[in-house]
Order: sequence, then C-alpha cells, then structure tokens
Amino acid sequence: MPSVGGSDAPPLIGVLALQGDFEAHGRVLARLGARVREVRVVADLDGLAGLVIPGGESTTITLGVEREGLAEPIAALVREGLPVFGSCAGLIMLDHEHLGLMDIRAERNAFGRQVRSFEADLELAGVSGGPMRAIFIRAPWIAEHGPDVEVLADLDGHPVAAREGRMLAVAFHSEIAGDDRLHELLLDWARELAAAGVSWVTPESTGESVSE
Ligand code: GLN
Repeated sequence: MPSVGGSDAPPLIGVLALQGDFEAHGRVLARLGARVREVRVVADLDGLAGLVIPGGESTTITLGVEREGLAEPIAALVREGLPVFGSCAGLIMLDHEHLGLMDIRAERNAFGRQVRSFEADLELAGVSGGPMRAIFIRAPWIAEHGPDVEVLADLDGHPVAAREGRMLAVAFHSEIAGDDRLHELLLDWARELAAAGVSWVTPESTGESVSE
C-alpha cells in the first residue's frame, strides 16, 4: 500500500538481479545519483521508489521470479503505482503472459529466429535531446497493445517503446549505449512520487533487506 513518508534522500531504485545485464543498469542509475539495490528476494523490494527489469532471458528470469515468489509482490507494488522500467526481456516480463502489468503482448525474438542484433537511432515521443542509440539483441516487439498504452517509437511498423502510466517498456538496450535518458525518466517519476509523500511497503516483507 502506498503510505505517506516523503524523503529528501536520493531515490532507492531496485534492479531485478536474477539474470541478465542488471549490473549495467545499476551503473547508469548510480551515475545519475540514485541509490541502487539489486533485487533477488521479496525483502529486497521493501522501500523501493522504482524498479528496473533488465534484459536477459525472459524464460530464465521467469523461473527465478517463480522460485523466489517475486511475481505477486512485484505486481502488487507496480499496480499500486511503483514506477517500473523494463528493457528487452524486461519488456517481455511486463506483458500479459508474464507479470501481466502492461496491457501489451510481446512477441519474443521478433526480429528473426536466428540470433540477431542490430543498432538503430530512434526518436522517442516525449524524450527530448534527439534520437537515442538503441541496441537490439534478440529483441521482442509489441505485437498487441491496449488503448491506454502510448507507443513512443516503432521500427518497421512495430512498437518497440511504450509507456502506460508510470510503466515504461523498451525492446532495446539503452544502458549499454551510454544513453541515460530512460533511467532519468524513471528517476523523475520516483522523485515526483517521493515529493508527493508516496512510498510503498511490501506486506510480505520480513524486513531483512540486502545491502545497497
Ligand atoms: N530474447 C530474449 C528473450 O526472449 C530477450 C533478449 C534480451 O533481453 N536482450 O527473453
């Protein structure tokens, strides 16, 4: 449940750290002045102001999420308004068939069945500062989405970046291209909510959180 208790401390952002390129996200967030916590168990969700779900393998991440009982607590927090940013496999995790948080259906490995990686310069709606270097690594695209989903960019006619409230999903990696603007957006949302005095407590938390 959101509770009142704003703070001037830098926002504490969790990075789901079961598999994938979570360290790269942590480096970007730290560079932007956030406090960063790697999330591996439910207690690590306690007190977060935002969450990043990194790229990797959505099948492996799903297994880890199930093993640790993280799906429900993550879903509950995000439904309560915890800002979330999913990149590549993280986009897949946010869709109907995984955590069921965004009104999207992701098509895995959508750019070809073979291992396929490429880069593109993408203009994202609402993100100023010119095109973003986007690195696609066996990337999904958004095959279907509901009316509340705002498509921020598409490629070959397929949505590859989208926003729904304070949930952001992109099919590519910006964290390894040195572009910090998407993480900045997540931090802006986290700061906005902190300024409004909103914070979250996970009901299942044991209070035993790992070091930041
Ligand atoms: N192909 C991966 C999957 O389906 C996603 C790849 C990535 O995150 N770079 O989960």
